Amino acid sequence: MMRTSPLRPDAPEPHDAPAATDAPAVATRRGGVHALPRPVSVAAPAISGELAHAGAPRRDALRRFVIGRPVWVTLPALFAASVLASVGMLFALTELMGMGYGPTFSRSIAIAVVAPILVTVPVGGFIIRLLREVDDARRQAQEMAWLDPLTGLMNRRRVVEIGAAELDPSRRRGGECAVALMDIDDFKRINDEFGHGAGDSVLQGVARALCEAADGVDHVARWGGEEFVVLMPGASLEDALAQSERLRTAVEGLTVAAGQGRPVRCTVSIGLATAGHLDGFEQLVNSADRAMYRAKAAGKNRVAVG
Ligand SMILES: [Mg+2]
Repeated sequence: MMRTSPLRPDAPEPHDAPAATDAPAVATRRGGVHALPRPVSVAAPAISGELAHAGAPRRDALRRFVIGRPVWVTLPALFAASVLASVGMLFALTELMGMGYGPTFSRSIAIAVVAPILVTVPVGGFIIRLLREVDDARRQAQEMAWLDPLTGLMNRRRVVEIGAAELDPSRRRGGECAVALMDIDDFKRINDEFGHGAGDSVLQGVARALCEAADGVDHVARWGGEEFVVLMPGASLEDALAQSERLRTAVEGLTVAAGQGRPVRCTVSIGLATAGHLDGFEQLVNSADRAMYRAKAAGKNRVAVG
C-alpha cells in the first residue's frame, strides 16, 4: 500500500516535556519540506534527561551549575559562598560565645574573608576539574550505551526507552504517535555480491539518508542487523504515511560507493503502525513488524500499514 500526503501544518506537538539542559529539545512535527541535513548521530531528546534525573532536581541543578558553567563563573561563585559562610560563622560564634566585638574583631573578619579564598582556589579548582572529568566519563558511557557504533544512530535499547516514554499513558493525553519499522531489501545479496565492508557502508548510507529525511523531527534508530526504526511522536496516520514515503524514497535515491568502486543501491520495505489509545511501544513495534512482512510479500520497496 502506497500513499502520500502532505504533513498537516496544524499537527499536534509531540509532547510537553520540559527541555533538559544537557540534551537538545525534541523538535516539533511541522509541515513543509525536509531540506536541512543533519548529522547521523542522534542525541538524547529532552524526555530522557527529564526521566534520568527525576527525583533529584536540586542536586541536578547544583551539578549543572558546577560543571555546566565556565570556570570564571563557578569559581567566583564558590568564593562568594565560602566567604559568606565563613563571615556568617564568625558572627554567629561571636554572638553564641558572647565574645563581643572588640578591637581585634576587624582582624578576625579579614581572616574570615581571606582564608576561604586561599582554600577555594586550589581545592575548589581541583574539585571542579574532577567533577567535569566524571561528567565527561558519564556522557561517554551513556553514548556507548545508547548509540550504535557503526551508524552513530540511537540503538534499539535507547529507542525502546524513548518509545515507552512517548507512549506512557500518563504523558500522552491522547497524543498521536507512529512507528515505522524498515528492513533493507535483499541485504544478504549486497553482502554476498559486494562484501561485508560494502554492507556496512550501505548501512551507514541508509542511516544518513533516514536522518536527513527525518530532519530532526523524528527519532531514527538502528533496530538491529539491517533493520531501522523511526519513531514519529505526534504523527497521525496521514503524517506517518507521508513521512514513511519520504523515508522510502530517500533510501531508493541513495547510491553508496562501495564494493571496489561499484555503486551499490538498495531499497527498504516499511511497516507502519500508529498507536491506538492503549497501545504500548511493544505492541506498536509488533504491529509495524507484521506490516513490514506484508510489504515484503507484496513486492518490497513499499510501505504497508499495520
Ligand atoms: Mg532482512
